[in-house]
Amino acid sequence: MIKATAVNKYFGDLHVLKDIDFEVPRGQVVVVLGPSGSGKSTLCRAINRLEPINSGQIEVDGKPLPAEGKALAALRADVGMVFQQFNLFAHKTILENVTLGPTKVRRASAAEARTLAMELLERVGIANQAEKYPAQLSGGQQQRAAIARALAMKPKVMLFDEPTSALDPEMVQEVLDTMTSLADEGMTMLVVTHEMGFARRAAHRVIFMSDGEIVEDTNPNDFFTDPKSERAKDFLGKIL
Ligand code: ATP
Ligand code: MG
Repeated sequence: MIKATAVNKYFGDLHVLKDIDFEVPRGQVVVVLGPSGSGKSTLCRAINRLEPINSGQIEVDGKPLPAEGKALAALRADVGMVFQQFNLFAHKTILENVTLGPTKVRRASAAEARTLAMELLERVGIANQAEKYPAQLSGGQQQRAAIARALAMKPKVMLFDEPTSALDPEMVQEVLDTMTSLADEGMTMLVVTHEMGFARRAAHRVIFMSDGEIVEDTNPNDFFTDPKSERAKDFLGKIL
């Protein structure tokens, strides 16, 4: 579903993605781990072309990333993204936040969009918050609304960049539970997270990045019990 080949990215002189190769097959959940500054967010952003790359190729669903126009809008609809900061539209209700994309980009009717939005809000457990504004919700509820909003576009893949890092501890689990149920339903997911419990339980694969490189790409059990590289051992030693 996602295929990156020899991807390189620079910010000025800083080489932040170094010959990155990886694949996320349809239906797989891949967790990306690594120290701060290793390039995890840049990698996520490159996949829906929020960040242009300098060389190499990224394909989503068998097609190279389009540079602009309608094709780029279609790509962004196919690749749902959930960030650390929920990025909901503050002056719109939760329901409006979720119906906006489908009516504008997917050209759904207002009634269709509403039905779908209510189904999704039900699924993430906040249907009773539909008429409220983002500021009236807890962080965990806002993040679940952001997930519902991304799902409303019927994405082929979901990218999560530290979706629980900005949450109070008691709200982390409700968001992880929502993500786990998505994974169980077979959604293709690339998840940057520091939640090792989620990585162990939900990931089919773990990619460990350090200093712009993919240092390990393996199954969670091997990664957590028998990391091969010194860098991964060092990282795990600090966080576990
Ligand atoms: P964290 O765990 O802290 O979120 P990360 O692994 O997501 O880190 P990135 O945000 O991808 O790391 O950053 C990779 C490197 O690129 C860092 O050295 C960062 O300072 C740099 N960087 C990121 N965005 C920019 C930018 N817009 N301009 C210049 N440098 C940037
Ligand atoms: Mg980051």
